[in-house]
Amino acid sequence: MKRSSTQSSSDNSSKRRRSRSASDIEDEDGYVPYVSVKERKKQEMSKLLSYRNRRLQVVANEGDTVQEPAEDDDFGTRSKVSLLDQHSELKKKAEAHKVSEMDKQRQEEEKILHSIQETRALMSVGELAKGVVYTEPLKTGWRPPRYIREAPESKHERIRNKWHILTEGENIPPPVKTFPEMKLPRPIIDALKKKGITQPTPIQIQGIPAILSGRDMIGIAFTGSGKTLVFTLPIIMFSLEQEKVMPFGKSEGPYGLIICPSRELANQTHEVIENFTTVLSAAGFPSLRTVLCIGGIAMKAQTEIIRSGVHIVVATPGRLMGLLEKKIMNLEVCRYLVLDEADRMIDLGFEEDIRTIFSYFKSQRQTCLFSATMPKKIQNFARSALVKPVTVNVGRAGAASLDVIQEVEYVKQEAKVVYLLECLQKTPPPVLVFSEKKAEVDDIHEYLLLKGVEAVSIHGGKDQEERQWAIKEFRARSKDVLVATDIASKGLDFPEIQHVINYDMPTDIENYVHRIGRTGRSGKTGIATTFVNKLVEESVLRDLKALLMEAKQKVPPFLLELDSLSSDMLELGDDKGCAYCSGLGHRITECPKLEAIQQQTASSIGRKDYLSNSAADW
Ligand code: AMP
Repeated sequence: MKRSSTQSSSDNSSKRRRSRSASDIEDEDGYVPYVSVKERKKQEMSKLLSYRNRRLQVVANEGDTVQEPAEDDDFGTRSKVSLLDQHSELKKKAEAHKVSEMDKQRQEEEKILHSIQETRALMSVGELAKGVVYTEPLKTGWRPPRYIREAPESKHERIRNKWHILTEGENIPPPVKTFPEMKLPRPIIDALKKKGITQPTPIQIQGIPAILSGRDMIGIAFTGSGKTLVFTLPIIMFSLEQEKVMPFGKSEGPYGLIICPSRELANQTHEVIENFTTVLSAAGFPSLRTVLCIGGIAMKAQTEIIRSGVHIVVATPGRLMGLLEKKIMNLEVCRYLVLDEADRMIDLGFEEDIRTIFSYFKSQRQTCLFSATMPKKIQNFARSALVKPVTVNVGRAGAASLDVIQEVEYVKQEAKVVYLLECLQKTPPPVLVFSEKKAEVDDIHEYLLLKGVEAVSIHGGKDQEERQWAIKEFRARSKDVLVATDIASKGLDFPEIQHVINYDMPTDIENYVHRIGRTGRSGKTGIATTFVNKLVEESVLRDLKALLMEAKQKVPPFLLELDSLSSDMLELGDDKGCAYCSGLGHRITECPKLEAIQQQTASSIGRKDYLSNSAADW
């Protein structure tokens, strides 16, 4: 009878009963002998103590937040540890728990980064075969003025701090605050003045002296910060120097090579250089020959200039590869290489082409990488190509320009096109409208024309002539709206863009930064409106939310509602957000872009197949 009543009682009491039966003396008939009150109290006390010790042990082992019995425990006794002490003890344990979580995350990220690390060096076959390793930067004849050279490092540091210039590297050349102090030829300074450029921007203050000193460089600057001049002015100076010493003969050159991810960007950079070389030769300086090597234009004209000897080549990877393979051009005397928008180039699948291009170099070159975004994947890529590089960073890599007011609006898919018309009223023209899909660009363009809007459009499906005409018309202000795929989002400089409308949210947050960077340039304020709806992936929205918060923009309620990782986890280590794609709303362990790439690799789809959609545009 006694046993059955024990079985029917609650778990807790059964535990008590079991423990009691272990300590009490019970004879075979179940008879319990008499125990004095004093003895019973002593046993009760020792049980309480051992229960309490066991609980403390559990808390310590698990590091969790199990509540310590504070005032009265189950047994009605009072804790001897004060509430404050208990609280600080628990807080310490929770902290330790969090630190171990962060350590775990860090280790996992290191593993991933290690696995995607580029192991093949970016070197020519000859260099690899002979085991040639360059350890010192190239020497140039340029020096900053003596009073700058001899100024204490603390003064240089003050200038960098004032302009928010972050640098990394050994023996960083001093920043130089004016164009005359950079020893640029007078006609160049005058040409700059004519364009209203009188004071160097921060990236120019540090970047131009670094490159003129012969240093390899990674330049990280938001679009519109003036980075084109950082790499074009030095190549002009170097070419002038070369031409003075020994004029370039037939089929000689190029001395400098600038590679851009899109034909339009290459065209724009080429125009900047031509502008300077024209004023220089008009002022009696040696004539410099520059050639634009891009697809969509007959190779014949390019070949002719190359055969006459050329100082500077501005190219897109595809056409450049063609010219090198056909031996129309060689890189035997090329000493200066720039990869503009380097991260875009890697994203677009030009990595293998860049590798091949590197293999054509015959001796050490000065290498400079430029981009608005510089995620780990490109830093890894660059490491083996650079000799004691200087990193110049003005503004976080991948950060949006603070001169852009970013507005994100929830617009249903079917309401977008009508809402676009309303949205165009926000500012006067010129306005840029972006969509990732070529067909959508055509649809929007057609709709705007029907509604009487002066619009033009470009995408990779159109021929080069049409693309150039559209850009020319838009630049000349004959047209108010340019509708484009991301072909127009990389580094293109359209002056005075008032408003960028993202008809769709790019799947890649870096593209978003590039797109909105078409406005708010050169210190002017612009607006960017982005349409989002439930078709946009949540991870992209999280990145967008983090980016808006970083740029101190208004975050709409539907983005605020999204769960985000804690700021501790997002800012783990040196990197904010994802080390692979630079997205601020996630870590590399959840990177959708990396996952997509790994899936593609795993299913062994050929590189060309995977990239055909996007790379065809270029
Ligand atoms: P980029 O970032 O090189 O595409 O340059 C963006 C725009 O800024 C171009 O229109 C340049 O002409 C202009 N720009 C470049 N440097 C300066 C400067 N130091 N001061 C004012 N505008 C500049």
